[in-house]
Amino acid sequence: MSPSPEVKNPPELEFGNAWEYAAAPESVKVDIADKYGMFINGAFVAPMSRKYMDTINPGNEEVLSKIAVANEDDVERAVAAAKAAFPKWKRLKASERAKYLFRIARRLQERAREFSVLETLDGGKPIKESRDVDIPEAVKHFFYHAGWADKLDYAFPGRKGRPLGVCAQIIPWNFPLLMAAWKIAPALACGNTVVLKPAETTSLTALRLAEIFVEVGLPPGVVNIITGAGDTGAALVAHKDVQKVAFTGSTAVGKAIAQECAGSGKRLTLELGGKSPNIIFEDASLDQAVDGIVQGIFFNQGHVCCAGSRLFVQEGVMQEVLAKLEVRMQSLRVGDPMDKNTDLGAINSLGQLATIKRYLEVGEAEGAQRHQPSVKLPKRGYYLPPTWFTGVQPSHTIAREEIFGPVLSVMSFRTPEEAIARANNTPYGLAAGIWTDKGSKIFDIASRLKAGVVWCNTYNRFDAASPFGGYKQSGFGREGGRQGLLSYLELV
Ligand code: ADP
Repeated sequence: MSPSPEVKNPPELEFGNAWEYAAAPESVKVDIADKYGMFINGAFVAPMSRKYMDTINPGNEEVLSKIAVANEDDVERAVAAAKAAFPKWKRLKASERAKYLFRIARRLQERAREFSVLETLDGGKPIKESRDVDIPEAVKHFFYHAGWADKLDYAFPGRKGRPLGVCAQIIPWNFPLLMAAWKIAPALACGNTVVLKPAETTSLTALRLAEIFVEVGLPPGVVNIITGAGDTGAALVAHKDVQKVAFTGSTAVGKAIAQECAGSGKRLTLELGGKSPNIIFEDASLDQAVDGIVQGIFFNQGHVCCAGSRLFVQEGVMQEVLAKLEVRMQSLRVGDPMDKNTDLGAINSLGQLATIKRYLEVGEAEGAQRHQPSVKLPKRGYYLPPTWFTGVQPSHTIAREEIFGPVLSVMSFRTPEEAIARANNTPYGLAAGIWTDKGSKIFDIASRLKAGVVWCNTYNRFDAASPFGGYKQSGFGREGGRQGLLSYLELV
């Protein structure tokens, strides 16, 4: 288990012949194997289940590759590897653990363009978002937590932080590599070992991250990556040798996981859904606010748990905001995720597209007015024009339920009191946005919003040093920052 400073060549993938994806118009070519095994104990292995599922490019509906479907035996193998690796990993000098994290960060940075292309092919998000947000932020998470690894005594003065053991980490499909980084980096920095399960539609970048673990000589078993759908995730959560479960995903699955963990002694953190308010006051810079509205709900096709999906506009500026919004919407480019100019790429899956379309129908049936810019969508792939609804009542389904798509519900308010009451009138509490040029108003309103993150005159900005997490049905526990370390340590 001694750290090996040299960077090794990428591992030979055992499966199939790699083929080159002509990633036009991006210049980087990305090899994608015909099929992928799982990463267990430092090597890619075939699933004991012998089962594979297709992973599809939602931008053109082509099959990219086949992904292993882990069964209980595979889960057993992965957890056993993580358990066996734990004693040595936790005893390793913290500065040595830090070195591994720094090496992972650097190597990911070097291969950033390749990861960006792969992320966009597998998930449908615009290449400019993968390139400028997802992959750089993932790199930052590894750098940031590398910095903490040998300074944990300073994070919690007077206390000793002990690692928990084997962490089961289950992530969603909206930010595949970034969520993997959010989970893996703090767990390793704190001395835990990991079994990670990516979402079934977006496993490719996590599996490629495993190549980097091999390149940097991360000791076998410290991180294991198993693929599959809900059954695989459930088997992982239920495994007796798992000490900690970290889940990001839907509120429904989060509740099932909380029930499974209750009474088991397993530590649990949940980052779930949201229906976040974005509040525009009359005194805001309206052009800036309209940009913030667009960034708040249409970033990543609205597949964002903290998306600003409920827009509250103060009555006096409602008409002006709507007029500006309409003009701005006409300028959004929807289409090929690999095109550098694309603003909205593909919806992640056919199932999610159907879910969003159902919400559009419900919105109209309940009396709201639907607006969409005239856009020409590609013939193949899962696409939807960005949509906003006016005439929305707080009781409408589209004002209450998380849609997880590019759909905005516009509502009005008269007074700050009313804005706060309406914003907090939700079972969720993940994020909120405030737009005003009055600093005192920002502090007052922010302190009265029940939301884990409050953005002021901006929206959807992330930083590894800033804790992220929710209240109420948006979950509990924080990721990022000093507070995020608490999810992976027992303080004694
Ligand atoms: P979505 O509905 O947006 O696809 P999910 O909450 O279903 O989100 O999925 C998030 C992650 O949780 C995925 O990796 C998925 O495979 C996993 N998952 C789904 N069902 C379960 C379950 N019962 N137990 C554990 N993990 C699950």
